[in-house]
Amino acid sequence: MQLDAKIPGGPITEKWDRHRFELKLVNPANKRKFTVIVVGTGLAGGAASASLAELGYDVKTFCIQDSPRRAHSIAAQGGINAAKNYTNEGDSIWRLFYDTVKGGDFRAREANVYRLAQVSNNIIDQCVAQGVPFARDYGGLLANRSFGGAQVSRTFYARGQTGQQLLLGCYSALSRQVAAGKVTMFPRREMLELVVVDGQARGIVVRNLVTGELESHAAHAVVLATGGYGNVFFLSTNAMASNVTAAYRAHRQGALFANPCFTQIHPTCIPVHGTYQSKLTLMSESLRNDGRVWVPKNPQDSRPPHEIPENERDYYLENKYPSFGNLVPRDVASRNAKEQCDAGKGVGDTQLAVYLDFADAIKRDGRDVIERKYGNLFAMYEKITADDPYKTPMMIYPAVHYTMGGLWVDYNLMSTIDGLFVLGEANFSDHGANRLGASALMQGLADGYFVIPYTIGGYLAGTSLNDVENSHPAFSEAAGGAQNRIDRLLGINGKRTVDDFHKELGRVMWDYCGMARNNAGLEKARGLIQSIRSEFWENVTVPGSNGDFNQSLERAGRVADFLEFAELMVIDARERQESCGGHFNEDFQTEENEALRDDENYCHVAAWEYTGEGQAPKFQKEPLEFENVQLAQRSYK
Ligand SMILES: Cc1cc2nc3c(=O)[nH]c(=O)nc-3n(C[C@H](O)[C@H](O)[C@H](O)COP(=O)(O)OP(=O)(O)OC[C@H]3O[C@@H](n4cnc5c(N)ncnc54)[C@H](O)[C@@H]3O)c2cc1C
Repeated sequence: MQLDAKIPGGPITEKWDRHRFELKLVNPANKRKFTVIVVGTGLAGGAASASLAELGYDVKTFCIQDSPRRAHSIAAQGGINAAKNYTNEGDSIWRLFYDTVKGGDFRAREANVYRLAQVSNNIIDQCVAQGVPFARDYGGLLANRSFGGAQVSRTFYARGQTGQQLLLGCYSALSRQVAAGKVTMFPRREMLELVVVDGQARGIVVRNLVTGELESHAAHAVVLATGGYGNVFFLSTNAMASNVTAAYRAHRQGALFANPCFTQIHPTCIPVHGTYQSKLTLMSESLRNDGRVWVPKNPQDSRPPHEIPENERDYYLENKYPSFGNLVPRDVASRNAKEQCDAGKGVGDTQLAVYLDFADAIKRDGRDVIERKYGNLFAMYEKITADDPYKTPMMIYPAVHYTMGGLWVDYNLMSTIDGLFVLGEANFSDHGANRLGASALMQGLADGYFVIPYTIGGYLAGTSLNDVENSHPAFSEAAGGAQNRIDRLLGINGKRTVDDFHKELGRVMWDYCGMARNNAGLEKARGLIQSIRSEFWENVTVPGSNGDFNQSLERAGRVADFLEFAELMVIDARERQESCGGHFNEDFQTEENEALRDDENYCHVAAWEYTGEGQAPKFQKEPLEFENVQLAQRSYK
């Protein structure tokens, strides 16, 4: 298979405008003749559904939760980037583009990132028009704060609840279309199979999570916006329902999976504090605007923080990276926290934590100001840890947070299956090997509000599509396969719970394919994953039946997919013999322990083709060309 990213020609600043002009159009009166399936109601899927329906397409929208509003996007805290330059600090589309390409360690496609920066400003206008209550400055303009990897303040926010407010705006746009009859909403449905007819994505098979019934839905195109797969690690900051199933099932049907090993480990999360935990909590990166990260200078110093005098503290990020200080990108901050803890300077009971201290900010700005900015985050921290961060520093440690890998898409956001589009965190995205903070919301909304409405029209207008109903044999075949799998899971009657297997898988992934990787560990992990997987299919217990609301069964299906997908992640990590962004192979580092890229051999997107159960996936390469940004060793000093 030849990968063609379909990047338009011409100068980067003009590519998107030119492409929009060249794309074929669907006449307004003809749009209602097309049905589009959208799977997912987070910011990417919600925005896509609302926008496509507004254009006149008939949209069928699916999500796992009881309401679209419960998509994982609602958890996003810190903010959304845009190059408005309201702060007069010298921001521009070029600067946002440059920061994003550099932040991703030069492993993203230039043309996509430029488009993302271009439409970032439209997103803010759209959301303000919807009534999203962004914070404002004293003059009434929208306020900004800083996020990692940038030297300008370009992050728009609504306290620590930006995702929630954006999703409410998006949900209101979606609800309007539901009321208008243009969107049919199918909550509590889980997509189990993609249906491909004559090489084109023509529908899906979903399980009704309340009744257990399998349903088939046909359409002219399918849009997946099913989020990220961080939960392959079991412990992550993702919502419990986040999973890889829809993307992985599409992968099995022929959609290539790109850069699956690129995982983001976020530096500021509440540390793991017991084996009974099933969830980790993020403390937003926005806190690093005012919080100072430090550890005791002396290893094994177990004094409480207030007893450690200034001259015995190491503000290691400020010292090592004076230009960016505490706001270095996430991959850099996470690796440094690990390095400090590995050197015995970690704090707290487990010594797997560093301090995030607000004492100076409170002294400088007053408690009121800090409370206004971060009040809900402080309250959440206190609720979970029983420590008051106004009085004592927070303790934080890196945790799995976001996945830059995803289904491969071209410039039109179409996968390697015709008519299958992939948006938001589910695609391999514009973030390269490391996503900058506040850029995921930007990308999801760019994809949903501003890219797919154009590119799907180009596809529908320019493709000959036969009439396909859900009575087509491809649907019964796909449904039969899904039913067999459900029956098999329910019939094993083994001795270990789904969560027990998931935890074991998560430990392997964290130990060998987490913040630091090496070749021996990755090879070991591959064997371990295979043996967990074979035991799973012999010894898992899934209580209950298919005919009722059965969350163990739901989870069993998702974990079964994680068990296959995890192997793809370690294969991908092993293949990439360099370090870049969140992929840190210990064998490839600079003298200062920074990621050492190999641009000669690995300046590409690694895309993997499914070749059959138990077969090695086939490697495909999309070379990355940089015409506007010079490749360089990333420096935040
Ligand atoms: C705690 C936290 C805080 C964050 N804060 C920020 C921030 O401040 N700024 C920022 O830019 N980014 C942030 N992020 C990242 C950002 O929230 C996500 O990347 C983004 O919201 C993903 O949106 P999405 O629409 O792609 O997917 P999601 O919001 O994950 O939505 C996925 C949708 O797909 C549905 N779905 C999944 N699988 C199936 C299936 N098989 N069948 C049917 N439906 C399915 C789900 O029901 C859901 O509706 C944060 C992430 C976390 C974990």
